[in-house]
Amino acid sequence: MAVSREMKAPNGAAAALDYDAIIIGAGMSGMYQLLRLRDQGMRVRVFEAGTGVGGTWYWNRYPGARFDSESYSYGYSFSRELLEEWDWSEHFAGQPETLRYLNLVADKFDLRRDIQFESRVTAAIYDEETRSWSVTLQDASCFRARFLITAIGPLSTPTMPRIADVDQFKGQSFHTARWPHEPVDFAGKRVAVIGTGATGVQTIQTIAGSVGHLTVFQRTPNWCAPLHNGKIDAETQKKIRDGYPEMFKRCLETFACFIHSPDPRGTFEVSDEEREAFFEKLYAERGFGIWQGNFRDILIDRKANAVISDFVARKIRQRVKDPKVADKLIPKNHGFGTRRLPLETFYYEVYNRDNVELVDITETPIERITPKGIKTSDREYEFDIIIYATGFDAITGSFDRIDLRGAGGARLKDKWKRGPQTFLGVLVDGFPNMMMLMGPHTALGNIPRSIEYNVDWVTGLIRYARDNDLTRVEATASGVTAWTDHVKALGVGLLSNEVNSWMTGINSNVEGKQTRIVARYSGSAPAYRARCDEVAAKGYDELALG
Ligand SMILES: Cc1cc2nc3c(=O)[nH]c(=O)nc-3n(C[C@H](O)[C@H](O)[C@H](O)COP(=O)(O)OP(=O)(O)OC[C@H]3O[C@@H](n4cnc5c(N)ncnc54)[C@H](O)[C@@H]3O)c2cc1C
Repeated sequence: MAVSREMKAPNGAAAALDYDAIIIGAGMSGMYQLLRLRDQGMRVRVFEAGTGVGGTWYWNRYPGARFDSESYSYGYSFSRELLEEWDWSEHFAGQPETLRYLNLVADKFDLRRDIQFESRVTAAIYDEETRSWSVTLQDASCFRARFLITAIGPLSTPTMPRIADVDQFKGQSFHTARWPHEPVDFAGKRVAVIGTGATGVQTIQTIAGSVGHLTVFQRTPNWCAPLHNGKIDAETQKKIRDGYPEMFKRCLETFACFIHSPDPRGTFEVSDEEREAFFEKLYAERGFGIWQGNFRDILIDRKANAVISDFVARKIRQRVKDPKVADKLIPKNHGFGTRRLPLETFYYEVYNRDNVELVDITETPIERITPKGIKTSDREYEFDIIIYATGFDAITGSFDRIDLRGAGGARLKDKWKRGPQTFLGVLVDGFPNMMMLMGPHTALGNIPRSIEYNVDWVTGLIRYARDNDLTRVEATASGVTAWTDHVKALGVGLLSNEVNSWMTGINSNVEGKQTRIVARYSGSAPAYRARCDEVAAKGYDELALG
């Protein structure tokens, strides 16, 4: 179809649009979406808050930031040429390498010319008259496009802890997701880390050896398992390259797009010896196998979960010399794998070092930050550096920070007050021509595999609209209710849905996020894709098209 700068308005008038589509965010989702829409001959603009591409891998420069997905299973799969060109140096690459990779992608496909950096979108408002979105940036400039695609990331809005006087500290302080671009000197410094989620674990294990003294402030211990990272030698590299088609095929077949998939056996269908040997094998293997490749029932059956939790607790006790410290590191309020599993490299051994101290803030809560450090109910600790590893306002957080208004001025934030409502995690009724990538209710898992699928699906829908001269694409209210109910039903019986975590929408540092919601699609990725494929195959007849 010919590219037209003039798009038809419903009343027959032609409305001048700046772009055919605006994408918010230049992480892996936004970059790939730009490429695919450009293939359609569309005029596309990406607005990105940061100064470079990469999203997660642009912002998270904290020491030790790296993949938990195997590097080769994480990279883009869409270009054989790119796969041939790029060698991952480690099974789980560090952030600098991933950022280099994403910059290579931007260069290779000449993406930067359509990306406007340092451009935070503050508002996006739908105009029914012209069937287009008006997008406002932080500097008040405004652009209009037929389609709006959010690629704003499930984990991209950092949250600071709600502790009094954070601004009073006179030393250096950093949030891990807003880490400076220059190296931070830890030598001889007294350092505090607040938070022991996946990011805290990576930071702590990386800096423990180079700081003068490290104090870890822990509220909730997380179950962690060994990463077993390693360099990729030339021979392995060749095997990886030759095996790409098969590996990506496998990723599309597994529950969560990882190379690991659950063992079909139940925990109690094997003997005690067999079970123990299987757990030992998984604990000694690379990556998420112990989480994603364990017995099929560990995340749904309380007794099965207790058995694997007990196994990992024993490992922690073996690895941490002081039994009191070990006990503090063993989670008591949730079972193994029911929160996002941090993978670690000698994390537990860190607590055997003389220069590392663990403070349990459920026993001695932090009262406030002082000019010199941190005051708990017990004493004041003095620091040179405070690191906030306090995570993100996950999944819906980046949507909440944009004034998003659909038809008739309805605010997305109001519509989602009691939890997100979506069709396929991509569309929302009342928000025509808006598509979401990696928003709520989509299959996430090993995320790039889901990104590529969602981008291709959104591209297919937009192509269909353009081929058929449609200027308005919207989910129906009944479609949204049905999908939202389906997503909620999928969560029933999952132990993870009974636990407070970012995956259930809880963030004690964000006002209004103290009630659990179902923000995550917890069915299988193949089932998700089958449903989306079905909608496309039937000519999108479940949508309101006009
Ligand atoms: C430390 C860390 C490690 C991770 N490791 C893994 C892993 O091993 N495996 C895995 O599958 N996933 C992992 N993830 C999840 C990761 O977020 C995804 O894999 C993937 O990078 C998401 O890409 P995205 O483009 O959807 O979002 P992001 O990479 O988050 O990009 C979103 C972009 O949108 C921009 N943006 C947001 N709001 C606005 C706005 N209003 N205006 C303008 N720009 C805006 C942001 O600046 C950001 O650049 C990890 C996440 C973190 C934080």
